[in-house]
Amino acid sequence: MQYTSTRGNETRVDFRTALLSGLADDGGLYVPTSVPVFSPQEIASWSWLPFDELAWRVMAPFVGDTLDEPTLRALVSDSYRGFRHRGIAPLQQLGHNEWILQLFHGPTRSSKDFAAQLQARFVRHFLGAECERVMLVGASNGDTAVAAIEALRHCPAAGLLALYPSAGTPADRAAVMRSAASDSVSCVAVDGSFDDCQSLVSALLRDWPCPGLIPVSFNSTNWVGVLAQIVFYFHAALQLGGGIRPVGFSIPTASFAEIYAGFIAQKMGLPINQIIVSTNRNDALHRFIHCNRYSRGSTSQTLSPVMDFSLFSNLERFVWELYDRDGGATRALMEHFEACGELSIGNRQWLHARMLFDSYAVDDVLIREEIVTLFHETGSAVDPHAATGVFAGRLHRRNIGAPIVTLGQFAPEKSAGLLAELGAWHGEVPAGAVGTAGDGPLLAADDLAGVHALLARLQAGR
Ligand SMILES: *Cc1c(COP(=O)(O)O)cnc(C)c1O
Repeated sequence: MQYTSTRGNETRVDFRTALLSGLADDGGLYVPTSVPVFSPQEIASWSWLPFDELAWRVMAPFVGDTLDEPTLRALVSDSYRGFRHRGIAPLQQLGHNEWILQLFHGPTRSSKDFAAQLQARFVRHFLGAECERVMLVGASNGDTAVAAIEALRHCPAAGLLALYPSAGTPADRAAVMRSAASDSVSCVAVDGSFDDCQSLVSALLRDWPCPGLIPVSFNSTNWVGVLAQIVFYFHAALQLGGGIRPVGFSIPTASFAEIYAGFIAQKMGLPINQIIVSTNRNDALHRFIHCNRYSRGSTSQTLSPVMDFSLFSNLERFVWELYDRDGGATRALMEHFEACGELSIGNRQWLHARMLFDSYAVDDVLIREEIVTLFHETGSAVDPHAATGVFAGRLHRRNIGAPIVTLGQFAPEKSAGLLAELGAWHGEVPAGAVGTAGDGPLLAADDLAGVHALLARLQAGR
């Protein structure tokens, strides 16, 4: 399997190079030049497999001959070893034909562990003693960085630079990031939003200032982030219908990567009848799916902080696919977006997207009500992001006969304070409500020079 850039240069790289990278040379994202397709019989034959056995089979065509089968198998299985549930990603039933896929049994209790753990194994396998040449880089509202810090145990020589918004990052995650600081790890609060952090990281990766260091993005601008998430769809669909019955999904928009991963899973032959894009008040993606108008906007803080942003980097991969892998067209659209903050795709491409996608924006009042409703209906605490997905799923379900699965990306205890306040929580409330990031260095939202200085300090310290 070869990878190329979404922005049209002729580069062809293998899985290893795509994985050990930030952005492609022309500023685009790496994408596989073709999508592997499995036959219905082959998919159905996997229905008895445990999660890790399924995972390497789904990933294998994307990895190509970069790794032999036993190696891939071992790395993939090892990456789920620290998970606390034997099922890795169990389904929780909410009602008739209605489910949450629990993706929060990893070491840091979010779905980000799937990609982070896998990435660390791949990096260590590819670079071995040379891991110290790697700098993991990314923007985060907390969860991705915390997952990346935890995964560093498996390639301890790598460095890490994370930028997070000073307002809106949950205090417990900010505390983990601050306490991880070392000669090779730096997590810095930015006086701005997640979008500001992401813009700084993109600018840094586009013009990488340290030739001796390999930048590797720790969120799903890196292909491994998408790859890890494609498996979610296969796993859920196989549990619920053996790969034969169509299944619908509702995705809380903690990033576009999961949504794009679902789109790819469908292209690979998985019978997915619908994907619902569920946003909160920060509804940039809802406006894109609903009326083909995507715009960068100011974001506000909500009950589901991980969804509080409007810059979705994987949208670029989606646009590239919708335009039949036309890098020139994608480049033009993305450059227009970068200049004007707005993007609309062609009518044909948009209609194509609408065949699979629906969307909805759920405000905080409805999210609160949904959390309480779900607690009464099931006796279980459901986190606010998943509640957003369940609400949108109930509203926009196309086929009552098809199971609908909401991705549960975050453990409910991460929002225990809110759930307890709503009477939807059993037991004690762990410390760590939403708060400001507090002390520690604070970068201005446009301080790229400051980011360069941090990186130089990290490089010097190693
Ligand atoms: C996960 C993710 C985010 C959100 O990051 P958090 O740290 O979980 O808030 C944003 N963008 C991309 C590409 C991601 O993969």
